[in-house]
Amino acid sequence: MVFADGVSKSFGSNEVLKSISLEVRRGEVMCLVGPSGSGKSTFLRLINHLEILSAGRLSVDGDLVGYREHGGKLYELKPKEAAMQRRDIGMVFQRFNLFPHMTALENVMEAPIRVKGQPKAEVRKRALELLARVGLAERADYYPAHLSGGQQQRVAIARALAMDPKLMLFDEPTSALDPELVGEVLDVMKELATSGMTMIVVTHEMGFAREVADSLVFMDGGVVVESGDPREVLSNPQHERTKAFLSKVL
Ligand code: ATP
Ligand code: MG
Repeated sequence: MVFADGVSKSFGSNEVLKSISLEVRRGEVMCLVGPSGSGKSTFLRLINHLEILSAGRLSVDGDLVGYREHGGKLYELKPKEAAMQRRDIGMVFQRFNLFPHMTALENVMEAPIRVKGQPKAEVRKRALELLARVGLAERADYYPAHLSGGQQQRVAIARALAMDPKLMLFDEPTSALDPELVGEVLDVMKELATSGMTMIVVTHEMGFAREVADSLVFMDGGVVVESGDPREVLSNPQHERTKAFLSKVL
């Protein structure tokens, strides 16, 4: 589903990602961990074409991200085409970024109506189903300010799912939450993983990684230091940098 081959990204002279190669197969969950500044968010942003890569190839579901190949040459997608590509990828951030002037239900309904032009009654039905799926059927008419952080994050997940994404990217979805609210968000993500969604999750929740992920990638300084089965990497890290990092988060 996601295929990265020698992906590099520089901001000016700062080489933030240095030839990242990895693969996430359909239905798999990859957890991405690493110290602050190691390039995790940048990598997610490249997948969503919010940043443009400096070198390498990156594809989602067989399509190059941001480019079209024709006769051995690469052509940059027009903004409209890039937007079409991005529609299939759901993203959930540390900060929930819900529209404050809309209820939970309206937040979930917004994109399918505005971006896809789907009929309102249909979108509403599906949005209510999604809110029920994340355990918020009773909160459909609440405004974000009247929801807890964990509830807001679950609305944000429902909102992303409303676009029927084929891939979900999570960037530290629980790190802004009070500890007692982390579990309810992780439970929703677990259910999503079990349902077969392809997911890349930047997180420091190693329990989640161990239990749910098919692979764990440890990044540091813009390179993949170590990757593999999460249980193996967590219980038997091979590199000093991985050991040092895990000793801090475990
Ligand atoms: P954290 O755990 O703190 O979220 P991260 O692993 O997600 O860190 P990134 O946010 O990807 O790290 O940042 C990696 C490096 O890229 C940092 O040195 C950061 O300053 C730099 N960087 C990120 N975005 C930009 C940008 N738009 N312009 C310039 N530098 C950037
Ligand atoms: Mg980050």
